Amino acid sequence: MGKVLVIGAGGVSTVAVKKMAMNADVFTDIMIATRTKEKADKIAEDIKAVNVQTRQVNADHVAELVALFNEFKPDLVVNLALPYQDLSIMDACLAYGVSYLDTANYEPLDEAKYQYSWQWAYKERFEQAGLTAILGCGFDPGVTGVFTAYADKHHFDEIQYLDIVDCNAGDHHKAFATNFNPEINIREITQRGKYYENGEWKETDPLSVHQPLNYPHVGPKESYLMYHEELESLVKNYPTIKRARFWMTFGQEYLTHLRVIQNIGMDRIDPILFNGVEIVPIQFLKAVLPNPGDLGENYTGETSIGCRIRGLKAGKEQTYYVYNNCSHEVAYKETGAQAVSYTTGVPAMIGAKLFMKGLWTKPGVWNVEEFDPDPFMKELNEQGLPWHELFNVDLEL
Ligand code: NDP
Repeated sequence: MGKVLVIGAGGVSTVAVKKMAMNADVFTDIMIATRTKEKADKIAEDIKAVNVQTRQVNADHVAELVALFNEFKPDLVVNLALPYQDLSIMDACLAYGVSYLDTANYEPLDEAKYQYSWQWAYKERFEQAGLTAILGCGFDPGVTGVFTAYADKHHFDEIQYLDIVDCNAGDHHKAFATNFNPEINIREITQRGKYYENGEWKETDPLSVHQPLNYPHVGPKESYLMYHEELESLVKNYPTIKRARFWMTFGQEYLTHLRVIQNIGMDRIDPILFNGVEIVPIQFLKAVLPNPGDLGENYTGETSIGCRIRGLKAGKEQTYYVYNNCSHEVAYKETGAQAVSYTTGVPAMIGAKLFMKGLWTKPGVWNVEEFDPDPFMKELNEQGLPWHELFNVDLEL
């Protein structure tokens, strides 16, 4: 049916490309373009069902990207590189005339500041060009927005309280490792906490608010309130929301390592001089930490991510919990990657598939909850991320 150009060749890209190849009726030609071509070649080696090509590209450079688009003529560009590349890739999409999808909002390299304003500013230009940009199409952001849209469409007249709960109850048997790009991960977790209540954003000290929450098939896990980017679009798109929060589980061992990393300055994102060379400590740390893409082999346990929602239906208060559990071992067996890459790569593929099929296309720049959730929910069940619903249970929050 069409040609897709995937930028980046990390854990998420590995899963998305393998899943695209399993949907060969939709994705007939794939190009993987990334900074280190060998990594793209490694993904391509396993793909038999569809035509795959690989290229080297520096996605910070618009002209390089446009040249690549002119060569391959993609129907969609799927950005699975880092958030720093979002704007240059969107610029290149506009310059060439192709639609866009990503899984994480833009951040400048020198400032960890998660907000959609930079990308939302492209709305008119995408609209005028008749191109679609789908933002944040991983799991969180991504499926959590689709879950909320589905709840709003089918189960509530008014969503009032939203708690997104993200539990990784897996064990990779390493003293310390991050489940996706360490630089992005550590920047995200060490920022101040933030949640939305009664029309205002309220800040908390990093990871200072926490409580145990029970996760299906997992049990109780200490869960920490932190800011997560989908909160920004969800409270805008569902103005009846009175409070929106995001919770993530962390083990004590992880938090102790994180504290040491912060105390010794290894999480700094500003350049320092080392032996006459400028290095950014957090980027150096990334180079010595385990590669998230290689964690899969010994990873046991599962993730459990969902939305706990309270609101009104026909004038009555009700609660709703929609979630997916994903086993690291099953994800690894199917794609060679652990569940965090899997739960991000599969939704990216689904968003791309719905775009290709004409189900998720509309000119402009959109967050996932602004599209019809139904075909996406159906695909989740069919593509390895089945979801479950609980009605009128104690949400604990
Ligand atoms: P990785 O670090 O494993 O992969 C990133 C890839 O992008 C690497 O192949 C890297 O190249 C490439 N890349 C980086 N800079 C450039 C550049 N300038 N030009 C071209 N290629 C570049 O990350 P992940 O696969 O773990 O994550 C990918 C994305 O998914 C990230 O944006 C992350 O924030 C997002 N994510 C979203 C989640 C969600 O649920 N929404 C959850 C998890 C991740 P090289 O190999 O040379 O370093």
